Amino acid sequence: MNLYFYLLKTSNIAGQLMLAMLFVFCVNINVFAENVHVHWLPQVLEKADELDVKDPFLAYEYLNEVKQTRFAELNAFDQATILNKLANYKVFLGDYEFANELNKQAQALHPEITSETGINIALIEGSLLDIYGKSAEAKQVYHRAIEQAKKEENTQLLADGYAALATSYAYTYQDVEAIQYYQKAYSLVNQLNDELQVAYLKSNLATTYMNLYDYDKAIALLNEAIVYFTEHKLPYDEMRSQITLSRSLMALKQYDKAIICFEKILELSQYLGEKRFVYFAHFGLAEINFKQKEYEAAKTEFKLADDYFSFIQDPFSQMMHFLLSASIANQEKDTVTAQNAIQKVESFVAKLDQKENIYLFIRLSDQKAKLLATLGDYEGAYNEKVASEELLTEYHSQEREDARSKYKVMFDTEQTELQNKLLQQSSLIDQLALEKAKQTEQMQKLVNSLFAAILILLSVFVYRQVKVSKRLNRLANTDSLTQLANRRYTFHFAKIVFKEAQIEQKPLSIIIFDIDHFKRINDNYGHPFGDEVLMAVADKAQAGLREPDLLGRIGGEEFMVVLKNTPINQAVEIAERMRELIAQLSFAAAQQQVKVTASFGVAQFNVDVDDFGSLFQHADEALYRAKNAGRNQVVCNKD
Ligand code: GH3
Ligand code: MG
Ligand code: MG
Repeated sequence: MNLYFYLLKTSNIAGQLMLAMLFVFCVNINVFAENVHVHWLPQVLEKADELDVKDPFLAYEYLNEVKQTRFAELNAFDQATILNKLANYKVFLGDYEFANELNKQAQALHPEITSETGINIALIEGSLLDIYGKSAEAKQVYHRAIEQAKKEENTQLLADGYAALATSYAYTYQDVEAIQYYQKAYSLVNQLNDELQVAYLKSNLATTYMNLYDYDKAIALLNEAIVYFTEHKLPYDEMRSQITLSRSLMALKQYDKAIICFEKILELSQYLGEKRFVYFAHFGLAEINFKQKEYEAAKTEFKLADDYFSFIQDPFSQMMHFLLSASIANQEKDTVTAQNAIQKVESFVAKLDQKENIYLFIRLSDQKAKLLATLGDYEGAYNEKVASEELLTEYHSQEREDARSKYKVMFDTEQTELQNKLLQQSSLIDQLALEKAKQTEQMQKLVNSLFAAILILLSVFVYRQVKVSKRLNRLANTDSLTQLANRRYTFHFAKIVFKEAQIEQKPLSIIIFDIDHFKRINDNYGHPFGDEVLMAVADKAQAGLREPDLLGRIGGEEFMVVLKNTPINQAVEIAERMRELIAQLSFAAAQQQVKVTASFGVAQFNVDVDDFGSLFQHADEALYRAKNAGRNQVVCNKD
């Protein structure tokens, strides 16, 4: 690893050559490593990912159990994969220190950045660097991961890398770069054939719009995504979207609506046992109350948040906490508390780049000015104020030429005003309050919602969502017992094919079949035996089909086949073939062989069928007739 980093940083030709050689070497290692996955690992990872969709905590618990008990069975590559996954879950759970430790262990086992695991290790490393304010290093790591994903033509990881990098740029106020990389990420994630993916894309786009200050768009998208997450019982995703929504609403000063969000977040986080989000909800409510000058309520909410402060590990969230603490203390003229809070922030920002963390510096400067004014040091307060204004102006001069001139005029006017006021020191405090209000106004649209901690939190979630959406999509469409398409997806697919056939005037047939006397099988040999029969029947039926045909499980022991471009006589032949294959099956039960049969109904799309529902009905009627005629046979609706 060290060698690799060293080479990456060197610019001499020999170094570059060695680097190139190292890559070749790594790729070879990777091929070898991928081939030696222990056979049970893919299933374990799949299960962990499935749990992760509902709750990362469960996924962590499950995989950690595997680590405790079976780690020794694994080779270094597989161990690295598990450690990286665990780190990944820990990041989602906000336990950054432990995540960092796990990811480092993974890195030590599998130093090459080639392979999916290697790239994932780099992406987690990057997000942790961002979380700890080392944004320049984070970007380097992301760039490296991106290059590698490109080399390996891994679109999914490439999209992950771009999304992470974009958010890192948004976080350091480099909007132009952020937009560019978001665009790259989204252009890769373009398989939108599923409602769930659309919902994820909406919430990711909303986060992007929020990072780019277009709150109206963000809010509209989030509201749509939230409806989907609520209906489909995905509380984590709902909670995450509510957080983004609350920040966007706050930026637009729609505080009443933001309060509703925070209440919802409280409810969801208590339900999920997510203490960090309980904190964020109370903190958000404290902020709103403070902005609305409800100081008592702000204090109460802040105290509630404070009880959960120990769950917050990322320093930016911690700094926001101390800044609000300073604001409240300054408001109450509690100079001791204010001073303590300010000192904590000062010692943290001392290590940071001012340009990349401008909002933090401005807020700090404001609080210092307030404190100095309370202490009677008006000159000091004035200097702080000027410093803060300069920071703000510098920000605009970098990024927004138009806005800059406007702010310059404001700044000059205010400076003159301030100088006049300085002559009457006794009224300076009022002036500061007035000025603060004006400044807040200016800042609001631009930086207020770039609430560092939340943004980082979201960046991690953007990454998570790009990652899980593909898997979720598959899960959402698959029947878990037979691995066939499930009812929802089968009908969705059939309806699309039906439309095509209608427009293009092509033949289309469907087959519905139902296992005969299946209840008896369950009753006589037990439910697990019945499940085995179902799986075997699904396999056999699938074997009787051609590549473009879709077989789905649409009920307990009921299946549907969608046959594109297939006239009914051909469909009947296919059904007959499936019937025979199933009838050949034989299952060993206690001292005897059990046979199964199925009955088939076939129907074809024609002029008097004007929607898929009636085509299905025709096939269902045919199936009913097959059952009545003695079962184990094929009936088609022309007969
Ligand atoms: P028929 O020939 O008329 O279709 O009779 P049948 O017994 O197959 O039909 P019925 O609809 O009465 O019974 C279907 C049974 O399938 C009842 C239900 O317990 C069973 N079943 C549904 N889903 C599953 C499953 O996932 N696993 C198992 N083992 N059984 C299931
Ligand atoms: Mg049946
Ligand atoms: Mg049935």
